[in-house]
Amino acid sequence: AKLQGPGSRIAYDPHIEQAAGHRFALMSRLGQDLRREALFLQFQPQVDMASGRVVGAEALLRWRTDEGLIPPSEFIPIAEKSSYIHAIGDLVLRQACQALDRLAAAGLAHLVLSINLSARQFEDPNLIPGLLETCAAAGIAPGRLEVEVTETTAMDNFAHVSQALSRYRDGGNTVAIDDFGTGFSSLEYVYQLPADRLKIDQVFVARLEHDERGRQLVRLILDLARSIDATVIAEGVETAAQAEWLTAHGCHIGQGWLYARPMPLEALIDFCGAAGAAA
Ligand code: C2E
Ligand code: MG
Ligand code: MG
Ligand code: MG
Repeated sequence: AKLQGPGSRIAYDPHIEQAAGHRFALMSRLGQDLRREALFLQFQPQVDMASGRVVGAEALLRWRTDEGLIPPSEFIPIAEKSSYIHAIGDLVLRQACQALDRLAAAGLAHLVLSINLSARQFEDPNLIPGLLETCAAAGIAPGRLEVEVTETTAMDNFAHVSQALSRYRDGGNTVAIDDFGTGFSSLEYVYQLPADRLKIDQVFVARLEHDERGRQLVRLILDLARSIDATVIAEGVETAAQAEWLTAHGCHIGQGWLYARPMPLEALIDFCGAAGAAA
């Protein structure tokens, strides 16, 4: 249980010990499974909502265990508390490069693949040089691999992170700000962010159908994006009504269950063929 403010007392709570034990067990298994490559990427298409054409995909990490899939929301925070997050970053990059190779072989070299970076990965001064080097060595052309960072990551250590992101962009690549609108960043920082795309967080998309206030907020985000020359992508698009509203208001790219859930790479390739044929 959490501290409840004045009047609450800290007592022995078996749940805390259980949770800590659970985290510890997960962490040691994570270390083993990292070596066994039980962690793998799935891919969720990013769609031009008007035509249905797939323009990119986001790589989302999965961890398969004997008890089923453990979601990243559960193991990324644990990995961030150890150095495993760096090993995870390496694994994601390696698998993303393989995926880009496969996509090119399938005639889909125009798709931009994005990977998520966590704040702690930026502690490594070699993060961006390493990314650029790995891509170059793998023959991945600049612009094919996008990185996503949350607003909170960028704000964490703004000078350092924005310099690193600028360096990545100087290499001809794009940067997306993830979960945009949920991070309490000041407008001044938003203005200075080296970003090509803002990903509107799914909580805002979900509110589009609720009320006028919800829609007004998304209009505001779209205006903001325009003013900093960033394009927008809507996360968590689940209904046709949301997609319609978004395209009518200048947000053209969507990612969400309306189009597809995250899927294996070969399924993405099939999906692109089907979407291309439909368009
Ligand atoms: P994110 O980067 O914001 O990813 C979007 C999340 O929304 C994904 O959850 C995706 O499966 C989910 N999603 C997509 N469309 C819909 C929809 O229409 N409705 C709903 N309700 N959800 C939708 P997922 O895959 O569980 O990932 C959660 C978070 O874990 C990601 O949020 C990202 O912050 C983190 N993550 C995932 N992969 C990686 C990775 O390789 N590295 C790091 N550092 N973080 C990762
Ligand atoms: Mg993301
Ligand atoms: Mg997001
Ligand atoms: Mg998120």
